[in-house]
Amino acid sequence: MKNRLAEPISNLKGVGEETEHLLNDVGIYTIDDLLEYFPYRYDDNSLKDLEEVKHDERVTVEGKVHSEPALTYFGKKRSRLTFRLLVGRYLLTVICFNRPYFKNKLSIDSTVTVTGKWDKHRQTITVQELTFGPKQALAGIEPIYSVKGKLTIKGMRKFISLALKEYLGDVNEILPSVLLQKYKLQTRKDALKTIHHPNRQDELKQARRRFVYEEFLLFQLKMQVLRKVQREQSKGIMHEFAENRLEQFIESLPFPLTNAQSRVINEIMMDMKSPFRMNRLLQGDVGSGKTVVAAIAIYAAILSGYQGALMVPTEILAEQHAESLVTLFEPFNINVALLTSSIKGKRRRELLDKVKNNEVQLLIGTHALIQDEVNFHKLGLVITDEQHRFGVEQRRMLREKGENTDVLFMTATPIPRTLAITAFGEMDVSVIDELPAGRKSIETYWVKPTMLERILAFIEKEVSKGRQAYVICPLIEESDKLDVQNALDVHSMLNINFQGRYKVGLMHGRLSSDEKDTVMRSFSQNEVNILVSTTVVEVGVNVPNATTMVIYDAERFGLSQLHQLRGRVGRGSEQSYCILLADPKSETGKERMKIMTETNDGFVLSERDLELRGPGDFFGKKQSGMPIFKVADMVHDYRALEVARQDAVELVRSQAFWEDEKYEGLRIFITETGILDGEKLD
Ligand code: ADP
Ligand code: MG
Repeated sequence: MKNRLAEPISNLKGVGEETEHLLNDVGIYTIDDLLEYFPYRYDDNSLKDLEEVKHDERVTVEGKVHSEPALTYFGKKRSRLTFRLLVGRYLLTVICFNRPYFKNKLSIDSTVTVTGKWDKHRQTITVQELTFGPKQALAGIEPIYSVKGKLTIKGMRKFISLALKEYLGDVNEILPSVLLQKYKLQTRKDALKTIHHPNRQDELKQARRRFVYEEFLLFQLKMQVLRKVQREQSKGIMHEFAENRLEQFIESLPFPLTNAQSRVINEIMMDMKSPFRMNRLLQGDVGSGKTVVAAIAIYAAILSGYQGALMVPTEILAEQHAESLVTLFEPFNINVALLTSSIKGKRRRELLDKVKNNEVQLLIGTHALIQDEVNFHKLGLVITDEQHRFGVEQRRMLREKGENTDVLFMTATPIPRTLAITAFGEMDVSVIDELPAGRKSIETYWVKPTMLERILAFIEKEVSKGRQAYVICPLIEESDKLDVQNALDVHSMLNINFQGRYKVGLMHGRLSSDEKDTVMRSFSQNEVNILVSTTVVEVGVNVPNATTMVIYDAERFGLSQLHQLRGRVGRGSEQSYCILLADPKSETGKERMKIMTETNDGFVLSERDLELRGPGDFFGKKQSGMPIFKVADMVHDYRALEVARQDAVELVRSQAFWEDEKYEGLRIFITETGILDGEKLD
């Protein structure tokens, strides 16, 4: 039976060529598209339950007068009339300005209908309209569609009504009745009708609830099936090695592992030893010690006769990792090499030869690592560091580079769980949720830029004790468009201020990698006391003697970026400080600064960041791989997301899902995504 919903919209009565084009312009081609073109909001002229009304929203309520109105005058003309109104369970205060004549008409227990702004905190309504008696005929809830060009909202309503009338009967249920019953969800037919033509808010809420669950479940099913297919269709390496040799390595570390590190290492080892390919995300706050976890995993791969690759976003970070890993691996006779763009010509060829001949067992570098010119002898494990911006597609590409290679993605941007299971839904996730013992939390202050004198004094005090400081600026040089501090100016200002006493370095993205290297090296050897920099130091840089982080124009940075920057200090045993110089104009900006001063916990910050920014913006503009949901909102509907995720996991694991008739609707959906044939995931 051919699905009538797939018919073109031109089959709909009244849709001629012109209208067809108008509808195409908003992405509607088929009847199905039209039916699933949901309103983006509703105008509600009906009575509402105050419970559901947000602060400052306009509302219409009907209630009984509960107190004698009190009237006060300010001057001759201006007046304020207040009385108590009983609305359902609510006893609220109604305020009318400049309508003294209402006083005599309002008798106790009489019914009035009031429209105005609802102040949820004070429990008051400031009247815009007041009528005596019950609410007149209900105008109901009107759907508002997003339209373009000549297409009108009224027109959209008409086409959708027509489509509902003609085609609603052809709408098939996709969710099995077990799930419909379990969550008391509306059928797809009912929900479609309601979402376009709601009679009441509670009914609309139910329709929305159904689509939220459906969207989340379908998405999570896609992810879980992808995960299953990736696991089963790709033969993994079953790493085999002598446990005691790995133990020796762990015991050689200068510190005992934290419980979280040990747990995560176990999870990774299980993957590496299993016949499936590892596809794991490792989350851990800045300073939680992901590098040694990576080192241990790499050592395991090497012990089992393979090579490892560590891929990082910047060359500075690559150099730092190389330095610390060379030290760690030296006693174990492991050859660690660094591949950067500055290694050229003969040296490069020699290095690449060594990689090919297995003379190098661990190769560290940027993206260049997995490009064509690099051939490994036997690559067993790829680890990427600080790559939270990878989307699903990029992750797939990386995995396809090596043959059966295990992949571990590490990120220091703690990702709120709702986003993690969405953006990284097809992966396994490990979390280091504990910092090494003895870390002091960084004291963070938010100050106005006018307090510069005191900040200079503060830097001086720390530096005179032998410690070091970072000073971060958003720009490299002066800009006529933006009134923000630039690194060049701040550098010369500090140079003048500390002349003859302390050395001030300068670091920014326009330096060559040799220059950057020199600056960074002299800072990490404490030859430079104060480092002025743009955000190039944001990721991963580790100088434990640095205790002060000053960030200019801090309101220009997002919360997770500020947290990353702050994470450059607090890496040693001394008390560290972060000073945010900011004069934010917006409420969100102020809120961000406040949150920074309140918590050092990256997971708490990321949750707050998500609330402030919304899921679309969380990863920044570059992020791909975030799905767009029509109805569902990952932040708001996180409970539904958790439930749908769990259901998807269980379904995909169960035999019934793949065989039982009742899951056919879902199976058809999965087949259509092409995942089962190894096709591209959208
Ligand atoms: P990140 O997770 O931000 O990459 P790093 O791996 O750079 O963190 O570790 C931060 C610092 O903590 C490093 O100096 C590292 O040597 C140290 N470290 C890591 N694990 C431990 C531990 N278990 N106990 C004490 N210090 C540790
Ligand atoms: Mg790191």
